[in-house]
This record gives sequence, structure tokens and C-alpha cells, in this order.
Amino acid sequence: MLIENEPYYKTIGNEIEVFEHAFKNKLPFLLKGPTGTGKSRFVEHMAWRMKKPLITVACHEETSATDLLGRYIIKGTETVWKDGPLTKAVKEGAIIYLDEIAEARPDVIVAVHPLTDFRRSLYLDKLGEEILAHVDFMFVASFNPGYQKGFKELKPSTRQRFISMSFDYPNAKMEAEIIVAETGVDEADAKRLVQIGNKIRNLTEMGLAETVSTRLLVDAGKLIHTGLGKRLAVEVAIVEPLTDDQDSLAALKDMTSLMI
Ligand code: ADP
Repeated sequence: MLIENEPYYKTIGNEIEVFEHAFKNKLPFLLKGPTGTGKSRFVEHMAWRMKKPLITVACHEETSATDLLGRYIIKGTETVWKDGPLTKAVKEGAIIYLDEIAEARPDVIVAVHPLTDFRRSLYLDKLGEEILAHVDFMFVASFNPGYQKGFKELKPSTRQRFISMSFDYPNAKMEAEIIVAETGVDEADAKRLVQIGNKIRNLTEMGLAETVSTRLLVDAGKLIHTGLGKRLAVEVAIVEPLTDDQDSLAALKDMTSLMI
């Protein structure tokens, strides 16, 4: 899909330049970092900037090579082959974005190997066919290097096939700017939301599985902008999504209600 309108993306460092060079050199690109740090938005922005179609696949535990490559489907009385999203991207010269690639089944990694090296080819075993990637095809994936339990790892042999960049929470000034641009709240509210985010991010002793992402702060900003009470907005957009533990919830609510 070609993206018509510019997706808002606040540049954090030299990621745009690196991405463009990765594309020129036909090198696959891996975005590392926790959820909600702007990885998907960055890829959308780059696809728009480079005027290339983007095909995104959100990988999960059940995502298999067949889902990406394609399968035979029954159409009336016939069985016909239907290309999967990866095959489509390889043929059409799109950017494929496999979000959370490590979550997918192991056969996905096996299938994409020849695409991520000099061969730039895809083998469709069900058709016994090898296809060479279109000159504009680019392989992009994201990966959450979960230092917490429950996240899957990527093997070093796979990781070394990618140009990689880390994404993290932006500094306070940039994060407030993103919240203002994304939600329309005033700067003072945006700054307060960032302060709340940073305060919770520093509470490492709480053992939260995931901490406050820019996404959660943006969501709180949206609710405030449409007129929901600020404390309630912070509670439902930031605190409640983080934990189900009653004591932690109470502590976080107390703390944040004093800050907004
Ligand atoms: P990820 O793919 O890392 O999970 P997203 O790209 O979906 O995260 O970002 C979540 C939200 O955070 C976006 O919808 C956007 O509102 C906001 N966001 C985070 N970082 C940026 C950024 N650098 N520029 C613009 N928006 C951002």
C-alpha cells in the first residue's frame, strides 16, 4: 500500500539517513526496542518518504511461513495459489515490515534467510519455485529485546544479517513535542505527562513487565484533549494498562494523581 499523507514522525537521531543507506545497499534493517517507541511509525514515515509501498505483518506465536509465503485456497471448484504478504512484497518491490519477528514460528526465520543475504530470493516450497526479489524490495523487522521474561530471543546468526538500530523513549523535550503534535494538548499538560512517564520508568523496584511507552502517554493526551478529567485520563491510559496487581495499582494511582 502506498502511503499518501505524511505520517508524523519526530526524528530522534540519524535513523532516517541509516535507513536510506540500508535501502540503497539492499541491506535488511532491524529496529530493536520496547513497544510504543515509534518503530512502526518510523517505518511508515520512511515508506512515505521514499514513495514505496509498505506491507506490514504483525507477527505472533501462530504466524507461520505459510502465512507469509502463500497457500492454495479453494475458489469455487478450483484450487488456486494465493501469494502471502511477503511474496507479494518481494514481487512488487515493496517494503515488508515484520513487526515483532521473534514472536513468529521458527519456520518464518528459515524462510526469510535467503532474502536477507546476497541471494535476495524466496523459495516457495509448495510451488517448487524460487523468486528473485524486485530491485526495490526491502526487508524490515522489529524486535523487542525483552530483558523481561516472556519475550522470545533472536539467534545471533539471524541478528547478524541485519543493520540494526535501537529505539528507546525519547528525551523529555522531544517526547513532550510528540505528545503535543499527536494529541493537541497544551505544552504544560504534555510536559506533565512526560514527567509521569519518567517517574514510573524509574520505579524499577515495582517489577512491571513493560513500562510506560510514548504510546501510553499519547493515549492519555488524547483523552485529556477531548475533555476527560486529567486524573482519570492518566489512570485509564497509563496506570491501568501497566499492571493488574492491586497494591501496585493503588501506589501508582496515588503517585500520579499528585503529579497531574
Ligand atoms: P512501536 O512500533 O515501537 O510499538 P509505534 O510506532 O506504534 O510504536 O508508536 C506508538 C505511538 O507513539 C505512535 O502512534 C505515536 O503516537 C507515538 N510516537 C512514538 N515515537 C514517536 C516519534 N518519534 N514520532 C512520532 N510519534 C511517535
